Amino acid sequence: MVGTHLGCTECGEAMEENLAAGITWDLGDLYAGPDDPRLGQDLDGALQAARRFAEAYRGTINVQGGPSATRVAEAVGAMEALLEQAGKACAYAELLHAADVTPAAHGALVAMTQEKASAIRQEMLFFELEWLAVEDAVAQRVLDDPACAARRHFLSSLRRYRPHVLSEPEERILEEKANTGARAFCRLFDEVLSSLEFEVDVAGTPQRLNESGVLALLHDSRRVVRQAAADALTHGLQDNQLLLGFIFNTLVQDHGSDDRLRSYRNPMEARHLANEISGETVAALMEACEANHDVVQRYYRLKRQLLKLDDLADYDRYAPLTAETASVPWTRCREMVIGAYHAFAPRMGEIAERFFDRRWIDAEVRNGKRGGAFSASTVPSVHPYVLVNYTGRLNDVTTVAHELGHGVHQYLARPRGYLEADTPLVMAETASVFGEMVVFEHLLRAVEDAPARLGLLCSKVEDTIATVFRQVAMTRFEEKLHMARREGGEVARERICDLWLETNAALYGDSVRLTDGYRWWWAYIPHFVHSPFYCYAYGFGELLVLALYEAYRREGTPFVPKYLDLLAAGGSDTPAALLRRFDLDISDPQFWDFGLAPLRQMVGEAERLAQEVRDDR
Ligand SMILES: [Zn+2]
Repeated sequence: MVGTHLGCTECGEAMEENLAAGITWDLGDLYAGPDDPRLGQDLDGALQAARRFAEAYRGTINVQGGPSATRVAEAVGAMEALLEQAGKACAYAELLHAADVTPAAHGALVAMTQEKASAIRQEMLFFELEWLAVEDAVAQRVLDDPACAARRHFLSSLRRYRPHVLSEPEERILEEKANTGARAFCRLFDEVLSSLEFEVDVAGTPQRLNESGVLALLHDSRRVVRQAAADALTHGLQDNQLLLGFIFNTLVQDHGSDDRLRSYRNPMEARHLANEISGETVAALMEACEANHDVVQRYYRLKRQLLKLDDLADYDRYAPLTAETASVPWTRCREMVIGAYHAFAPRMGEIAERFFDRRWIDAEVRNGKRGGAFSASTVPSVHPYVLVNYTGRLNDVTTVAHELGHGVHQYLARPRGYLEADTPLVMAETASVFGEMVVFEHLLRAVEDAPARLGLLCSKVEDTIATVFRQVAMTRFEEKLHMARREGGEVARERICDLWLETNAALYGDSVRLTDGYRWWWAYIPHFVHSPFYCYAYGFGELLVLALYEAYRREGTPFVPKYLDLLAAGGSDTPAALLRRFDLDISDPQFWDFGLAPLRQMVGEAERLAQEVRDDR
């Protein structure tokens, strides 16, 4: 999330380009307002229901001979109803706060709903622990019973943690001590990073910028500005290397202790389990990317030529290739996105249209509104809401396409209910990235002149490289770091720098010159600190979409209903099982090549267009 400091400067700039003024959402489908009495009634009602739930079911799940399937199904039904009731109030508070963070009452409402939700979760914790304690054979009998058919995935996926949970007193101690352990170090990292100021010479004008500000300058069209920004970032990180190196070492060690206590065999296993995906599948994904580094290197050689540079340095990777085009009014954005969605599948177009027509989108830029963009699923009995900060750049159109992809996905998965609608992380970006792809192809078809096509294609290729290869390289770095800590104790900062540099050098080869300062750039990546091994999920999601899109190109219309079914399935099965319906086998190492092929084609097409543009001159 953007900090308040940058939020203000961003809004200041964007106010001039507030092309979606007046486009705000109507949260009335959730509650009439923060004073709506139904809000408090829902929260209190859910808490009372949770207490009744505990009275009714505590001690009845892990019983001699196992619980009856009907009783388990009934318990899950009751749990789902009360979680949805509380979830509606929580979702409303979050959205109200996102729309305007300034009133103290909005923050207070978020805190109040979270406290109530936490109290509710504590009341129900016993259910999970009792269900996990049931013997495998007995649990299988319950799972196979038709009474539990609709709850099977939810119940069986809970049990995947069975070999890794500790006793209730141990879990309580770990939970309490984490506040002064790992969580405290995460917060320290956030506070250090967000308070850092970087001194940058922006073409003769010295400026003090925060992290987002300095990173934004890496996209500047002037090389000297990019270089100055890179130097400033490096210096800021170097100046804090003692603290940052200590935080990294502590958290990596904490992760290792967790793994040992919970019997995970390697540093990535806990993440794979959370993602409902096998280690072999992830290994195949990473190896396939690493075997295709030449595509990345070919692209950066092309980019060097297009920028007319003798060498492409790390700080040139995000240099813009085309001048910013005229801004896109909101109505035009709406036409583009709905048009592309409609052309792919009328049903998707219709659902996307509702977001615009029924005020499920908040698009205008205004003070106090949260930065960035998201789609909130809220609860299945209502509908999702989308937030964007629309300033009319082509990039914003892509963001709208992305968030509406999430929105359509969440909308279609509503019938799965509160417990099974959300997908596991690796599938969460499927519809959003697919939506971007649909809009990108639609735009590309409409553009005939070669330089403009080249610009569009390059931006797509760069996004894909950043989402697939860069994330996989980051995961590989993380793996090396965790292994180094396990094998040799505390890892010296210079050694962390070496691991970072060697992983990146393997990715870029001689296509990008990695400068001396670049060796410190591991030190600001929040995912390494907050959610170890999170990054590969981005690569997984993007390559999966490229593979799905490739299947669509080959099959045409018969693909569409299967795709909509996939979205409607939400999180009701594992990724592998959901994708088998497309005859896509993610455990097959060859599968990832199917996703990498279209990228290779795009790079080839960009090279061809660049030649055509050169010949024209
Ligand atoms: Zn997304």
